[in-house]
Amino acid sequence: MSDINVVVVGSINMDLVIFTKRFPKNGETIIGNDFRRIPGGKGANQAVAAKRLGANVDIIGCVGDDLYGKELQSIFENEGIGTDYIHAVPNKNTGVAFITVNQQGENSIILSQGSNSNLSPKLIRKAEQVIKKAHVLLLQLEVPVESVIESVKIAKKYKIPIILNPAPAIELNATLLEHIDYLTPNETESKQILGRDFGTNEEIINTLKGIGVKHIIVTLGENGVVFNNHAEEIIQLDALKVNAVDTTGAGDAFNAAFGVSIAEGKTITESIHFAQTVAAYSVTKSGAQPSFPYSRELDA
Ligand code: ATP
Repeated sequence: MSDINVVVVGSINMDLVIFTKRFPKNGETIIGNDFRRIPGGKGANQAVAAKRLGANVDIIGCVGDDLYGKELQSIFENEGIGTDYIHAVPNKNTGVAFITVNQQGENSIILSQGSNSNLSPKLIRKAEQVIKKAHVLLLQLEVPVESVIESVKIAKKYKIPIILNPAPAIELNATLLEHIDYLTPNETESKQILGRDFGTNEEIINTLKGIGVKHIIVTLGENGVVFNNHAEEIIQLDALKVNAVDTTGAGDAFNAAFGVSIAEGKTITESIHFAQTVAAYSVTKSGAQPSFPYSRELDA
C-alpha cells in the first residue's frame, strides 16, 4: 500500500468508437468496421494513470444509473481505485462520447456529458473527508466549474497542492486561478484561459503568474513543455524522442504522473521529467487508459 494519496475530481465517460473508411454524409447510413468500447473521461483517465504509478487514488465523480455506469465502476474497482465518492445519478445516462475514426486516423466526436453535469458542489462537500487526506488534488474542466471551485476551496483549507488541467479550456476568472498551484494547459488551451491571445509562451506564463497562479506548465506535445520553475526562470524541456503511435491521453498521463511526483515531494523540474517519461511511454501505445504504464514497466 502506497503512502501517497491522490484525489481526482472529474469526468467519467464511456467512449464508443467505430472505425470506418470515411465519415457518413448528412442523412447517409454507412457500414463501418470495428467497434470498441473504451473507458474515458479526463478524470477517469488521470485516476487510472495515477493508480498504475503506485498511488492510492480516489475519484469523485458521477455516473448514470445505467449499464455503462456499472461497468465503469467495476473497471475502477479492478484497478484498485476508491469509488466511495462516485455518485450514481438516477434517470441520467453516464457520459458517453460517440467517436468515428476514418481511414486517415481523423476523428469526429459527439459528447453527451450525461451524469458528469450532475457533479454538484454539494457532492464535493460530501467528499471533504477524502479530499482532506490527499497529498495532491487533480482537477480538469469536464465537470461543472462550480464544483471545481468548491474542490479548490476545500483543498486550500487543508493546504493540499492543486493541479488544474484546464481542458477543455474555458475563460477562467482570477478568483479561481489565484488558488492554483500548478496550471497545465496545452498550447491551445493556454491561449483560451483568459479569453484573449497574448503572444509568446513566456508572455502567457508571466500574465498567469501576475494573476497568482504559482506555476504554469504549458505542454507542447512532441516539443515538450515550457514552465516557470521555483527560481522563477522560464525553462523549456524537450519531450522524449519516441515512436508515437497514438497521442490520445498523453495530457492525462502527464498530469497524473506530475501529480504523483509532486505528492511524493519531488521538485517541479523532477516532476516534469517523470511526467514527460510517462506521457512519452503512453504515446507509444494506442488508446488512453490501455496505454498508461504501471510503475514496474517504467522500472524495466
Ligand atoms: P491530449 O489532449 O492528446 O491528451 P494534450 O494536448 O493535453 O494531450 P500534449 O501537449 O499533446 O497534451 O502532450 C502532453 C505531454 O505528453 C507533452 O508535454 C509531452 O511530454 C508528451 N507527448 C505528447 N506527444 C508526444 C510525442 N509525440 N512524443 C513524446 N512525448 C509526447
